[in-house]
Amino acid sequence: MKLSDAQTRAFRMWLSSRGGVLLDCPVCRRRDWQPAEMIESGKDYRELVIYCGLCGYTYHFSMNVVASAIPN
Ligand SMILES: [Zn+2]
Repeated sequence: MKLSDAQTRAFRMWLSSRGGVLLDCPVCRRRDWQPAEMIESGKDYRELVIYCGLCGYTYHFSMNVVASAIPN
């Protein structure tokens, strides 16, 4: 499920509050991050993924940590 605009803003604020930023992709060295999506990757495990639109490299964030920062 793709995040809404409000959820995307909340996630970015959460990320930057921890000193995190999405810079150039570590694989292809370009910057084409696609909108974040929430996925279920196990029976009781959800994660937020962000992937590079050029090479597919993917960042994974556990919803166990991120969920409280993202509005429903
Ligand atoms: Zn890439």
